[in-house]
Amino acid sequence: MTVETTEEALAILDLTNEELPELLNVVYSIRKKYKGKLVGVQLLTNARSGNCSENCAYCAQSNKSEADIKKYKLVSSEKLLNDGNIAFEKKLARHCIGLSGIRFSNTEIDEFANEIKNLKNKTHTAICCSIDLLTPEQAKKLKDAGVDRINHNLNTSESFYQNICTTHSYKDRVDNIKMLQGIGFEICCGGIIGLGESKNDIVEMLLSIREINPQAVPINFLVPIKGTQLESADITHLTAEYCLKILCLTRLLLPKSDIRCAAGREIYLKGKEKEMFCAVDSIFASGYLTTDGSGVDETIKVIKDSGFDYYIESAT
Ligand code: SF4
Repeated sequence: MTVETTEEALAILDLTNEELPELLNVVYSIRKKYKGKLVGVQLLTNARSGNCSENCAYCAQSNKSEADIKKYKLVSSEKLLNDGNIAFEKKLARHCIGLSGIRFSNTEIDEFANEIKNLKNKTHTAICCSIDLLTPEQAKKLKDAGVDRINHNLNTSESFYQNICTTHSYKDRVDNIKMLQGIGFEICCGGIIGLGESKNDIVEMLLSIREINPQAVPINFLVPIKGTQLESADITHLTAEYCLKILCLTRLLLPKSDIRCAAGREIYLKGKEKEMFCAVDSIFASGYLTTDGSGVDETIKVIKDSGFDYYIESAT
């Protein structure tokens, strides 16, 4: 089954639920060819939280959000190292470090680069940073410090982007990713489903991501957060079947990339993990490390119970 055009991609999303098992079979054979039966487990440290200048409608850290979240500048070296050690000891695929905010001062990047150097020297785990717009000089500093991969999501289609954010543009995001690829970073680039977008928007976004050809594609399913602009978003269409069709389409369009089911997995795909892993080969261990240390073991159990094994990636 090949999917090249918008029409062919839309046809996948329009399949009936009765046709889903056949789609899962086809997608599983592609996943098996490129990824075997392995699932990469990533851990996430929220290294800087809240106080963002941007107005992304889904985000609890945005300037429009009244969500009750912890707000802090860069976390301590101890916290980063502790999380890095857990990732290393559990032999997880990657330590992902997320930072709120759209732009950073050179002093902030210098400080963060030092933390990364320290972490990389001690844990040797592959590091991905979820970070917004960087200057080429800042990006090079992070590369030299040991960041292997950068997560920068498109989030939705270019056509729908104005509905979820007006403080920066879709083009800003695409230009940033191209700059990062030019410097030699691996790229993690995905989106969020459930923002009010149409199926056409989903296809448009996935085709744009295919053009970028990232190493990893995280697909998030919106979990509305109280206090955000999308706290009352209609998510009734996010059935397990619909989510699975989107993950299958992502695998068909990007057969060799890591396809990650990120936020919303535990809600929308609970009990459907075996089907999910037909398309997906990467997930986050649930929860943040400080609040939910048992998330790692539980996540590994879900993978094994579904008949898959978790992925151990040696440090780069
Ligand atoms: S730029 Fe990032 S941190 Fe800021 S509001 Fe948007 S998604 Fe949230």
